[in-house]
Amino acid sequence: MEGHAAVLRHRTAPFALEPVQFAEPGPGQVLVEIAGTGFCHTDVLPRQDGFPASLPLIAGHEGAGVVTAVGPGVDDISLGAHVVLSFDSCGRCQNCISGHPAYCETFFARNLTGRTLLAPSLVTDAEGVPLASRWFGQSSFATHAIAEARNAVVVDKDLPLHLLGPLGCGIQTGAGSILIALGVEAGSSVAVFGAGGVGLAAIMAAHVAGAAAIVAVDLHESRLALARELGATHAVRGDSAELAKQIRKLSRGGVQYALDTTGVPAVIADAVDALRPTGTLGLVGAGSRELVFGPSALAGGKNLMGILEGDAVPQLLVPQLIELWRQDKFPFDKLIRTYPLSAINEAERHAANGTTIKPVLIPQGE
Ligand SMILES: [Zn+2]
Ligand SMILES: [Zn+2]
Repeated sequence: MEGHAAVLRHRTAPFALEPVQFAEPGPGQVLVEIAGTGFCHTDVLPRQDGFPASLPLIAGHEGAGVVTAVGPGVDDISLGAHVVLSFDSCGRCQNCISGHPAYCETFFARNLTGRTLLAPSLVTDAEGVPLASRWFGQSSFATHAIAEARNAVVVDKDLPLHLLGPLGCGIQTGAGSILIALGVEAGSSVAVFGAGGVGLAAIMAAHVAGAAAIVAVDLHESRLALARELGATHAVRGDSAELAKQIRKLSRGGVQYALDTTGVPAVIADAVDALRPTGTLGLVGAGSRELVFGPSALAGGKNLMGILEGDAVPQLLVPQLIELWRQDKFPFDKLIRTYPLSAINEAERHAANGTTIKPVLIPQGE
């Protein structure tokens, strides 16, 4: 099968749109014609020095599209099905079978290396050279993606399929962190640090959960305004003086829940300080810098929780988020701006400088 993909050949090179060849899907796999695929900050991790992803690589892990071929042994997804692609997991380890596939024992190898665990690569370049094409089990910066049926969530055909991809990662991470991992209750208080795609999804979810106080923290006024529109009861600039003290005041003694999406150590220290005793801070920001706070920072029964993918089961959470969207309670489409796949480098710049909260690349016609 002929198609095109945005290939990353070197850490510092731009993504390059190239003709590629897709093999037939193997056992348990589906071939998906991509209608749209979100650009997530995780997609630039392979640019980091020392990051163990194989290049040349096709990144992209928020794909949505139409199933155009089905591999042997796939009996629950039919040709023509509309699917949202999410992260890959094994389905057999202890965490998978206990309903926590985001904490699959092979999560890192399956999702963040681009390599396949067993079979050879199913996508090759114009010279027939294999490309790393298993990024989050999909590699969807392309006209097509070969994904595990297990990564795919079948959705209704009346939905705007090209916009649904981010539900499979960024939006799921924000919403799942609030609804599943932290389990925010009605009437409780939440602070969300960083009002990007993940943070704004968390704010919408906190609003859905009925949190009484929802504090958004960000450096951009425009994002704080959007956070208010989406359910934040308070918006605070991240560079304001005595940030934690301000938040404790707004929430009558501190928030029960906080979510850090920034990965910035100083912000995380403020988030711990803004918790009420027994409060929990969830960490979803990627970063390699060390956290520094005193041994008594967690006194009073405070908790820290590292969270991946909102601890969600995509086949459960994605349909719930879609239903909330239908009810106008979860307008995730307000975060999205679309670009043709060929404008991927512009989308990367706009995601990095905050011009666009959630770019979605449309490969149609490439
Ligand atoms: Zn597993
Ligand atoms: Zn992601």
